[in-house]
Amino acid sequence: MIKINTSNQHLVQPETFNLNAVSTRAADHFNFDRDTAEEEFKTLRKELIQLQYRLYAEDKQKLLIVLQAMDAGGKDGTIRNVFKGVNPQGVRVTSFKAPSKIELAHDYLWRIHKAVPPRGMIGVFNRSHYEDVLVVRVLNLIPEEQWRPRYAQINQFEKLLSDTGTKILKFYLHISKDEQKERLQARLDNPEKNWKFDSGDLVQRRHWNDYMSAFEEALQNCSTPYAPWYIIPADQKWYRNLAIMRVLVDTLRKMDCQLPQVKEDLTNIVID
Ligand code: ATP
Ligand code: MG
Repeated sequence: MIKINTSNQHLVQPETFNLNAVSTRAADHFNFDRDTAEEEFKTLRKELIQLQYRLYAEDKQKLLIVLQAMDAGGKDGTIRNVFKGVNPQGVRVTSFKAPSKIELAHDYLWRIHKAVPPRGMIGVFNRSHYEDVLVVRVLNLIPEEQWRPRYAQINQFEKLLSDTGTKILKFYLHISKDEQKERLQARLDNPEKNWKFDSGDLVQRRHWNDYMSAFEEALQNCSTPYAPWYIIPADQKWYRNLAIMRVLVDTLRKMDCQLPQVKEDLTNIVID
């Protein structure tokens, strides 16, 4: 078993911070190169596959992974790379788009609660209830009196999940505005990627600073011991993948899932 560097360097601490001052790249002292990082990533992914097998077999605990990012921040690529080779039966990805009429007729956590993972499962949220303190705030979809109390409500909701056996990990994929420009430009330039281009992303991009403030406040108010936020430097995809994989494998190791006890003595069973 390889030793994971878990200095919790990307964990959001309670004190205030300025997101613009947080690097979107791997630290300079990251003293190994991309090839070494990719090797470690692959080794840890093999372990993830084993750990997920045990989580599923144990059928007691649940793991919820929340991914948030600006457009082109790498949520899809993270899911594709991190969960490659993991038994699809044990992982459920839910992508949260703008709410439907029916969803809007309910409280904002209704659709979220329905999607949380049941026992033995890993649930991945591609966007989440955090949109309800991010986009709704930035685009003024509802007044502040309505979104401000949501930080406390979200903490209570996540506490409930945690108290009932769900381990929660939340990753904000932190890309720079320049990196977003490059990725959006690639969607324009590469015919294979044209389908991903959404001119709506340019509208959101104009609100970059407002989004940074909204993320700052959400991460500060809602990083708790039972549902921590991590700010993952995400300009370099290989580093992003490794940083998330490390937290994930470390967490699953600590969950210490056990294969179920065999219910009967199997030694004398003969299959005819
Ligand atoms: P991709 O573009 O990679 O397919 P995406 O997550 O950007 O993935 P889109 O359909 O482009 O998917 O965008 C989803 C949109 O839904 C985002 O702009 C997001 O802000 C919006 N959205 C998600 N949840 C809410 C919410 N609760 N209220 C309002 N808008 C929301
Ligand atoms: Mg989009």
